[in-house]
Amino acid sequence: MENNFIVSIIIPCYNEESNIAQIYNSLLSYIKDFNYEIFFIDDGSTDNTLENIKTINKSDKQVKFISFSRNFGHQNALKAGYDSAKGDCVICLDSDLQHPPELIPEMINLWQKGYKIVSTKRKDKSSGFFKKITSKIFYRVINKLSEVKIEDGAADFRLLDKQVVQELKKLNEKFLFYRGLIPWLGFSQIQLEYLASPRFSGRTKYSFSKMLHFASDGITSFSVKPLKVSIYIGFTIAFVAFLYILYAIYIAIFTDKAVAGWTSTIISVLFIGGIQLVMIGIVGNYLGKLFIENKKRPNYIIKEKND
Ligand code: UDP
Ligand code: MG
Repeated sequence: MENNFIVSIIIPCYNEESNIAQIYNSLLSYIKDFNYEIFFIDDGSTDNTLENIKTINKSDKQVKFISFSRNFGHQNALKAGYDSAKGDCVICLDSDLQHPPELIPEMINLWQKGYKIVSTKRKDKSSGFFKKITSKIFYRVINKLSEVKIEDGAADFRLLDKQVVQELKKLNEKFLFYRGLIPWLGFSQIQLEYLASPRFSGRTKYSFSKMLHFASDGITSFSVKPLKVSIYIGFTIAFVAFLYILYAIYIAIFTDKAVAGWTSTIISVLFIGGIQLVMIGIVGNYLGKLFIENKKRPNYIIKEKND
C-alpha cells in the first residue's frame, strides 16, 4: 500500500438493517486502496442493524461498531464517531446511500492538497417538497439570527483533518449542531456539491418532531438574538400603548363619550398577555438548555463496542 495514512469513516445508523451491507460494499470500492477503519454507530436500533454490522466484521476486522444503549440522535452518533476515530482524516456519511461514496476519493485528494475541512452541499434533494421548503425556511432563519454562516443544503457529509477532530472533541456541548460548529471552527475549508439520490432502503429516520428539535437546537445554540427580540417587541408595544393613552386622555377631556371601552381593555390585556407568553417561552427555552447543559450528562451511553 503506497498511502501511509489512515482514513476513518463514520456511519450513524438507526434502524438501517437493509442498508448496512449496501453502504459497506459501495464504500469499499472507493476506499480499498487506503488504510481504513469504518465505524458504524448503532444509535439504539431495534432491528437487525447491529447483527448485520457484526456479520461484516467477521470478514473485515477494520469494521468497528459502537452501539448505544438507546436512541441518542444523529448528532450524538457523529460525536461518538469523532471521539473514537483514530484516522488522519475522518469522513462521516449517512447509511442510506444519500451521500454518494464516489465523492470520497476527491475529498481525500483535496485534503492531501492541504484543506483541513472538506464539506459538502447537496445540489438537489430528491426528498419531498415539504422537506425542501422547511429546510429552506430553516436556513433562512438561522442565517438571519446567528453569527456563523451556514450554507443552505449543508450536509453532515464531510471530511475533517485529525487536527480539526481534536479541536471538535474539546467542545463539550450537549446540543450539538455540527453544521454550525464546523464553520465556526475556522481552518481552511472547501465545499463540494453533490446530487443526493433517493434513500436506498427504508424510511427517513428524521421524523417531523425530530426535525423541529434539530432546527430549534441549531438556532438556540448559535444565537441569543431571539432573546433580544423581546426588547424590540416590548418597545413597540409600549409605544403603541402610549399613543392609545394619549387618545384615551383626549376622549376623556374633550368629548363626553368616555367609559365604553370593555372591548379595548380586553383586547389589550389579551394582546400583551400573548406577547408575554411568547417571550417567556423564548427565555424558558434558553434557560432549559442551561439547565440541561449544567448537569453535564454524557451525550451518549455505549452499550457495546468492539474497538
Ligand atoms: N440517524 C441516526 N439517529 C437518528 C436518526 C437518524 O443515527 O436518531 C441516522 C440515519 O440512520 C441515517 C442518517 O442519520 O444514516 C440520516 O438520517 P435520515 O437518512 O433518516 O435523514 P434524512 O436523509 O431523511 O434527512
Ligand atoms: Mg437520508
